[in-house]
Order: sequence, then structure tokens, then C-alpha cells
Amino acid sequence: MSKNYLIGFPRIGENRELKRALESYWANETTYNDVLEAASSLKEKHWKEQNAAGICYIPSNDFSLYDNILDTSILLNVIPKRFENLENEELYFALARGTKEEQACEMTKWFNTNYHYIVPELSKDTNFKLNSKKVVDEFKEAKALGIKTKINLTGIITYLGLSKSVDNEDVYLNVNKVLDLYVELLKELDTLDDNLVIQFDEPLFVKDLDSKVLSLIKPIYDTLSKVSKNIKIVVSTYFEHSNEASKILLTTPVWALSLDFIYGLNNLDILQELKDSNKVVIAGVIDGRNVFKSDFNEKIKLLNTIKTYIKEENLLISTSCSLLHVPYTLEVEDKLNIEVKECLSFAREKLNEIRLLSILCFNKRLNQKDQEEIIKNKKISENRKKSSQINNLKLQKELNSLSLVERVGAYEERIKVQKAFFKYDDLATTTIGSFPQTKEVRASRLAYKRKEISKEEYENDMKQYIKDCISFQEEVGLEVLVHGEPERNDMVEYFGEQLEGFAFSQYAWVQSYGSRCVKPPLIYGDVSRPKAMTVSWSTYAQEQTKKIVKGMLTGPVTILNWSFVRDDIPRSEVSKQIALALSYEVDDLQKAGIKMIQVDEAAFKEGYPLRVKNIKEYESWALKSFKLSVSKAHKDTQIHTHMCYSQFNDIITTIEEMDADVITIETSRSGNKLLQIFKEVGYKQEVGPGVYDIHSPRVPSVEEIVKQINLLKEVLPVTQLWINPDCGLKTRKWKEVKESLKNLVEAVSIVRAQKSA
Ligand code: GLN
Ligand code: ZN
Repeated sequence: MSKNYLIGFPRIGENRELKRALESYWANETTYNDVLEAASSLKEKHWKEQNAAGICYIPSNDFSLYDNILDTSILLNVIPKRFENLENEELYFALARGTKEEQACEMTKWFNTNYHYIVPELSKDTNFKLNSKKVVDEFKEAKALGIKTKINLTGIITYLGLSKSVDNEDVYLNVNKVLDLYVELLKELDTLDDNLVIQFDEPLFVKDLDSKVLSLIKPIYDTLSKVSKNIKIVVSTYFEHSNEASKILLTTPVWALSLDFIYGLNNLDILQELKDSNKVVIAGVIDGRNVFKSDFNEKIKLLNTIKTYIKEENLLISTSCSLLHVPYTLEVEDKLNIEVKECLSFAREKLNEIRLLSILCFNKRLNQKDQEEIIKNKKISENRKKSSQINNLKLQKELNSLSLVERVGAYEERIKVQKAFFKYDDLATTTIGSFPQTKEVRASRLAYKRKEISKEEYENDMKQYIKDCISFQEEVGLEVLVHGEPERNDMVEYFGEQLEGFAFSQYAWVQSYGSRCVKPPLIYGDVSRPKAMTVSWSTYAQEQTKKIVKGMLTGPVTILNWSFVRDDIPRSEVSKQIALALSYEVDDLQKAGIKMIQVDEAAFKEGYPLRVKNIKEYESWALKSFKLSVSKAHKDTQIHTHMCYSQFNDIITTIEEMDADVITIETSRSGNKLLQIFKEVGYKQEVGPGVYDIHSPRVPSVEEIVKQINLLKEVLPVTQLWINPDCGLKTRKWKEVKESLKNLVEAVSIVRAQKSA
């Protein structure tokens, strides 16, 4: 038996079958039974595939119709009062998506991935009760196929730690209630089969936990381990090291720890202690959340280090985390450049990597075919280091000779020149960039992509849109205009498609939340910019008006954070390359007369590390990248940035250091509360706190916006304030946008009149 282990597998399906099944059910075109059937056949296919690939510990209950944390809420009957009257599938999807009457539960990002989970809502009235059906059924389902699975469960501390209490109580007060239910659950599972393995996912253990939370670990895992001799317990952590928690777990009877040796290399520091305690180590040595092929030589080196401590019989080979975060298979990608494709490995290919690596690690005999694969792997890894498609020597030289790059002039000096040049008023009005993406725009883009219309026809369609967009903005009376971004399907993809070093898959979808998937660009090689990317659109827009048109770029950190990034050089390097490419774009724009340029950093905060001690380093290179991207801006070129957050308290000094002349942010839903921090730190640069929420179709009234502006004025002087919506308008309808912006402009004129009165 090869000795390997799988934490979890993607469930959306090779052709996104689960998405289709769910969405047609939600649209009332099919029944819930159809969803269950689709789910069953996906599970069956995935289990069989893992089995055929030689995976030894195959997971069940990693599947979910929406989200595993939501499944755990159902398992424990953590149901908010407002959904009390619902049951079964109606209840399940109501929690995730809301009903006509009631709001869904909050959804938020799963650690530092792009996956989102449904936040459990605890209250004093939560009626904890066990509902083991899904867990039990999935185990039986696999068993009927002849596959005995390892069972995945959410760890108690992670579950509670990710919950919120509507009564603002300490969520961990519920530990014993949940523990009781888990004991009950284990007793029930115990009757299902001999020698069960149960995995408790505790990714929260990779964060900096306080001693109170740490103190819960031992009693919980002592208790769970004692339920039955027939059950082996695995505690699984990922995305970082979990040394504080691991040390405690070593004092409990748990059978194994599954540890991430890719993103949590510090896990190596406790190998001696793991050895002394004779625990089984499930070594996550294959990257579970990135799409690049493992270099087996490197992996063997890593495993040899681990093996100097851990006996072979106590070692299992695994991925760093669930494969949920990678696309399904590379096989169907027939349009990828062959050299790029060779460097990649998706979920199905990673199963094979696990198998091969476990054969290599345990010195089992390789058959002919496997031997050939190992040789090929070596070749590909070597080629990656040399390939001229991946390594751009000219660029590397340029990057090496870059000294620290700052734009010319201090802010105080720049803003004076800029105000004299642009002559905008206090409370200048603008928007964040995109305007509604109409059916026609999408159709034209698609037709062009499919080569059904010529480049010229496509460009004419876009120009028509831009022209209309500009005249609308003039009509409504906005002061700083934008071209509307009709040519962009997505703010990262648009740039990736024009930069060297990026590749795009056809089907490499990964689940973002529920039925929603994203298809991130792949950064496989050195990034450079062959030619200008946005200049012709921006200059066309500028030609249509005497007012200022703001250029629109996506920032380096956001491009990085929303892509799959090559693993052969540090992320900071890749970020720097993107930044350099963008700096040329900024320069080309200003040379072409576009002297107000927005560099969006919507995902700047998303890249923050999970451990506090790593934050400084991230901030340092992320900041440098942003600054490099705008470093060529002249004093009278005004740099804007936009961030889709409202909470700036923890990152405000970094935001200040970015030194953008203007920042637009998303604070519309909090009055002026979240803006206070800008005042507290004495923030000098200009700020455009969104005055209404664009995430809903609701049109804000003039009075409302006036009120909001007046609230902002209490915090910052009008000379420092811009007035704008809180994000791009791409997802809204024209009708809503027209009314909302009309009200916004009117509100500003009312406030200005108040001022002079
Ligand atoms: N300029 C982009 C837009 O308006 C910004 C989007 C974002 O911040 N997510 O669509
Ligand atoms: Zn935004």
C-alpha cells in the first residue's frame, strides 16, 4: 500500500456540473432531486478517480452543495432565529442565499484564499443539536462503491473561531456544547466500520492564537481521542505553520497531524518533538493551492529532511491543503502553449504527483511508465529554469539596476501644482471607473473574441460606448470623467492578456463561493509590457471632452493577488515586475496627456499574511511595488488609487506611505465612523469616501447623500474630500446609475451652496 493521504478534493466538477445543477434548481427549472443526483455522480466520479490514482486515505464529507462551514452549521443545528421555520434544503440554501424576506448569513473569505465560507451565527438561543445525516450518508455512499473513506469534519476551535455571536458573547463559551455533539457524532460513526480515520480541519491553528484559545485544544482533543479505540484522529492545519497548537496536540492521544510544508515551512521546527511523541506526520509537501508542477528533486530533498526525524511508518505524503483551491484537470486545456502547460498541475494531475512521490519517498519500485514520468519531471524542472519564454534576461537586468524609486516631489508640493493645473473644486465629483456593462458591450466583446467581428468593428462599438459614457457624465455634471471600461471583462484579466508572462486557461475554474467560480490568470514567466495597454481608450475618451478624463489601471498587488503566481521566484519579485510594466503605462498615459491616473488596488489587503510577524515584510514589498508602478508620474500628474475596503485602521500607515494623491474607498455603509482613522493619523492626501453603496440596486436620494457628505465634512476638511460612489458601476443598470449620479451631483451643489451661504 502506498502511503499517502488526501486532505480534500474540488467538488464543482470537471465541467462545473455542480454549478449548473444548483443554478437550474434555483431558477426552478429542475428539482432538488436533480441536484442530489448530480452531486452523487460527482462524488462517485471523484472517489473513483482518487482510488484509481492510488490515494490511500480518500476523504468523504469534503463534498458540499455550497460550503463545508455551512454544512457544519447544519450538523450542529446552528440556525439563526429568522430561519427557524424552514427545514431541509430550503433552510440550507436560505442560510447561504437569503430568502425574499430574510437576509442570508454573512459570507467571508476563507483565510488568505479566494474561497468564501458562510459565517455561522451564534446566539444565546442557539439550540445545539446533532444532525449527522450528511456525514454518515457520504461515508455509506462511498462504502457502497467499495471505497472506505477518511471522514472530514470541521474542527471545533476553527468552527467557533470563525463564527460570530449576535449577542456579542464570547463564541468559545459554546465549546462544551459543540464538544458534546462531536462526541455523540463520533459514537455514531464508530458503528459504521472498523478502523475509522477522522480528520478535524483546524486551519485556525495557523493564526496567532491567544493563550485562552490554545488552552482549549488539549481538553477537546483528549476527549475526542478517547471516544473509541476504533477511531484514529487526524488534526489538519494548512496555509501556515501551526507550531503552538501542534505542541499541545503532541500531548494528546491524536493519531496524526497533517501539516503544510509549503506555506508553513516553520512546521519543520517541531520535527524533533513530533518524533519524540511518535505521532504520524501527514506531510503536505505538494502545493495544494497553486497550479505549478512539483519539482520532484526538491520534494525528495524536503522529504529527506522530514525523514531524518520521522520514521517511514509514521509518514504519509500529502498536499499542503485541500485541492479545493485548484482547477480540476489540465487535460482539457488544448489551447495553452505547450511549454506553459508542461509546468502546470491541477487537481487530477496532483493526485498523480502524490502517488509518484510516495513511491519515490518510500523506495518502492517504479514501473517503466513511472520511471519515464520522473525523468520527464526532471527535464521540465530544468527547462523552467532556462526557458527563454519564462526568463527574460533583459528585464532581469533592468530590475536589478533599479534603485529605490520614488516619484519626484513631496505631496505638499505636488498637490499645489496639481490643483493649479486641474483647477477642480473642493468636493470634486468623480466615479471609480467602470460604467454598466450592457448586453451589447458583452456581445461585442464575445463576438470579437470568437473572431465573428473585425477588430475595427469591435473598436467602433467600444468607442461608441465611451462616447455615450462621456456625454452622459458631462450631462449629469460630473467633474472628473472616466472612459467607463467597456473593453474590460475583468480588471485583472484585461491587463494579464496584454502582458508577457501571463497565460489564460479555458476551463481552469475554481470555486469562489457556492456555485460561483473564478478563472484566475496564470503568471508563469517574467512579466513585461510589449506595448501600451490603455492609452488609446483613454485618449479617445479625452478627445470627446474638455473635462478631465482619469486614466484607469489595475495595480501590481491586485494583479498579483488575483492570479495564480509562479512558485519558482518570490511573489515580491513578480509583483515588482508587474509594477515596472505598469510604470511604463503610467508614463505613456501622461505623455499622451492623461494626467490624472487611477491605479486600483482593490485586493491590496487580501494578500496580508496570516501571521503577524510576516506582515511587515508583505507591506514593505507591496508598498514598494505600488510606488514603483507610479514612480514615473510627474509632479503635475495626479495619482489616484481605489481600495474596496472600509476598514483601514490596521493598515492606515501603509496607506499613507503609498502616497497616492487621492484615494477613493468604500466607507459608504458606516456614516463617517470608519473615516475617523484618517483624521486621527493626520492623513494629508485627498480622500474620496464612497457616498453611496453600489452593491445594491437602490438609488440613494439627494437628501441622503447631502447628509452623508455633511458627515464626512465633520471628519475631514472639504479641501481634502472628493465625492464619488463607493466602487465601480459595472454591475449596475444604467437606469440606476443615471439617477444615482444625478442625485450625487445635486447633493454636492447643495452642500457647496450651504458652505458659501
Ligand atoms: N476601476 C474598477 C471599476 O470601477 C475598480 C473595481 C474594483 O475596485 N473592484 O470597476
Ligand atoms: Zn472597489
